[in-house]
Amino acid sequence: MLEPERTIRSTCPYCGVGCQVDLLIKDAHIFRVEAPFDVAPNYGRLCAKGRFGMDYVSHPSRLIQPLIRKDLGQKPRRPVGLEGFREATWDEALDLAAEKIADTVRQYGGDAMGTFCSAKATNEDNYLFQKFVRAVLGTNNVDHCARLCHAASVAGLQIAIGSSAMSNSIAEMKDLEVFIVTGSNTSETHPVISTFLRQAVVQGGAKLIVVDPRGIEMTEFATLWLRQKPGTDVAVFQAMAQVIVEEGLFDHDFIAARTEGFEEFTGSIVEWTPERAESVSGVPADLIREAARSYASANSAAIYWGMGISQSVHGTDNTLSLANLALLTGHIGRPGTGLNPLRGQNNVQGCSDSGGLPNVYPGYQRIDDPEICKKFERAWHIATEDRRRETGNGHRSSVSRHSPVFRLSNEPGLTTMEMVDAAESGAIRAYYVMGENPMMSEPDLRHARHVMEKLDFVLVQDIFLNETGEYADIILPAVSFAEKDGTFTNSDRRVQKIRAALPAPGEARADWEIISDLAQRVEAKLDREHSAGFEFEHPAEIWDEMARLTPPFQGINYKRIEREGGVHWPCPTPDHPGTPCLFAESFPRGKGQFSAIQYRPSEELPDENYPFILSTGRVLYHWHGGTMTRRSQLDHIYPEATVEINPKDAHQLGVQEHAQVRVRSRRGKIEVKALVTERSPQGTIFIPFHFAEAAANELTNDVRDPQAKIPDYKVCAVAVELLR
Ligand code: SF4
Repeated sequence: MLEPERTIRSTCPYCGVGCQVDLLIKDAHIFRVEAPFDVAPNYGRLCAKGRFGMDYVSHPSRLIQPLIRKDLGQKPRRPVGLEGFREATWDEALDLAAEKIADTVRQYGGDAMGTFCSAKATNEDNYLFQKFVRAVLGTNNVDHCARLCHAASVAGLQIAIGSSAMSNSIAEMKDLEVFIVTGSNTSETHPVISTFLRQAVVQGGAKLIVVDPRGIEMTEFATLWLRQKPGTDVAVFQAMAQVIVEEGLFDHDFIAARTEGFEEFTGSIVEWTPERAESVSGVPADLIREAARSYASANSAAIYWGMGISQSVHGTDNTLSLANLALLTGHIGRPGTGLNPLRGQNNVQGCSDSGGLPNVYPGYQRIDDPEICKKFERAWHIATEDRRRETGNGHRSSVSRHSPVFRLSNEPGLTTMEMVDAAESGAIRAYYVMGENPMMSEPDLRHARHVMEKLDFVLVQDIFLNETGEYADIILPAVSFAEKDGTFTNSDRRVQKIRAALPAPGEARADWEIISDLAQRVEAKLDREHSAGFEFEHPAEIWDEMARLTPPFQGINYKRIEREGGVHWPCPTPDHPGTPCLFAESFPRGKGQFSAIQYRPSEELPDENYPFILSTGRVLYHWHGGTMTRRSQLDHIYPEATVEINPKDAHQLGVQEHAQVRVRSRRGKIEVKALVTERSPQGTIFIPFHFAEAAANELTNDVRDPQAKIPDYKVCAVAVELLR
């Protein structure tokens, strides 16, 4: 057996569980991954991705040198492979990138830049990225893939309680009494969390209520499975609330002390009887009643959900309807309860926490709060009271060709999807994309590609050339999680370390180093009198700067994380223990807000020409756009795109297991291999979104939740036909 030269403790780079891993290193390779048994959150458990999916780090296609497009400036921009780029030095690539960015800002203003930070990068990378965007470019146009996965959870929870993170910890899961899992294929998307949930059922006798259209593995352990038609979640949860109110199962004291809007809410659900919900959702009324009684009568009961709830045109309403249930029953603020959106990417929580959103600074401090704005301006050496002067009415950005005066913008920036719209209209002229792959993750990819072709300039920073990099003018090679220090924040708000275990490949550099270098060059080209401050020796210094400016992080530093393994924010002082369970006394918005909502059907339902509903999601062996897993041995296990088809539908279509089929929507078509399975209900097909050669987002619909602006990846109409 191989003996490691060294073993480095780190955090898994795949999903939001944030499993702690020991990377066993020999000959500059990770040759084995183990999990420590005595460390939260996974206590020795790992899934296939954590155990076998790290070999992408050593894949020969890693980017190792800056690249510049050979046909730079040619429009429309076409996607090119590596042969379409030439190698460049860092100086040449960064100078050119800085010149292009500065030109854009000088000519059109900072709001002409669209920027994407990364839920795969560290907190420190993302803090510095948004600092560059805000303090140098002068725009709040910064967003990331949280917009495309949990924006509706964020929007709904902000309305209901004023905080959008998971309220309770992973450590509580094995001791649950009753819990609802909805819109989460937990055993494939958050596999280690699913083992704790399963343990609660198998060992602890917990009651599991699954609310999901697909026959996912969690249903095998469920006491109740409510199999609603896709897109009818609100009807089911409204009816559960109606039963709880009608049968007097609500918590009077909790409602009186800690909520508002109860009367209006109860008025809004009177007509949502289980029978009415059955007619909409297909879930038998008796099952809805049983689920409501089980959830409401428990001493403690929790709700967990995933993208099946949030990636919907009514994702905010879905979240609000779950929040209504928790507020009705008082199942929040205690161990074993709570509202728990299971976050997708390894650091999607941390990227949002670090200010990678268009309307907030780190720690969700509002950009339109004058005091907060002043605090950041002082810290970033931007504007002092005596240097400030007004920039003129109507300018969203502080930097424009009409107004050279610089200050932080207090206008919310654009979301990812709005940036696509703005790029199409010409309001956005250039993109800076760090560690994201919008050319796989956007809905309606044909439209997204068209937009990419029009931009004046595209700067991409990544570890591989992916579908977005193919549109880049300049590509800056970054290091992976295994080649740098930093922190990730997992789904239950635990800030954990990653540590450099391997040397950087070629000339690749850490994201924070690249941003720092680029930012200083752009500042110089924009003739900034003072730098906002981009000189750091180590990411610990970046964390310390962010923590100084962000009250919930002020008790957290690298030494403490080293000592304790991880710390749950909020942690406002060095002697604070951290907060695994939130809202014991109050909610950030004060009282919990009930919301009167109404069920609305999905936007694009099946018809004669497109008779099936398409739902998209993940499989166990792959991750998001496949940039990492498709370059790992996991791709040998699950090498091609598939479509789940119910046996009755397959019979009608003449489709046998493993037949090739074409799936068409109003927007595009793909060819995939059929899996004939009861997992998908009749009339609904399911396609994973990991495969570029058959990208599910060629088919999806760019229709969005009006509040969260999240696209609907779970319901659109498609046709299926047998190929051979
Ligand atoms: Fe990594 Fe998530 Fe699997 Fe844990 S559950 S090993 S964090 S992919």
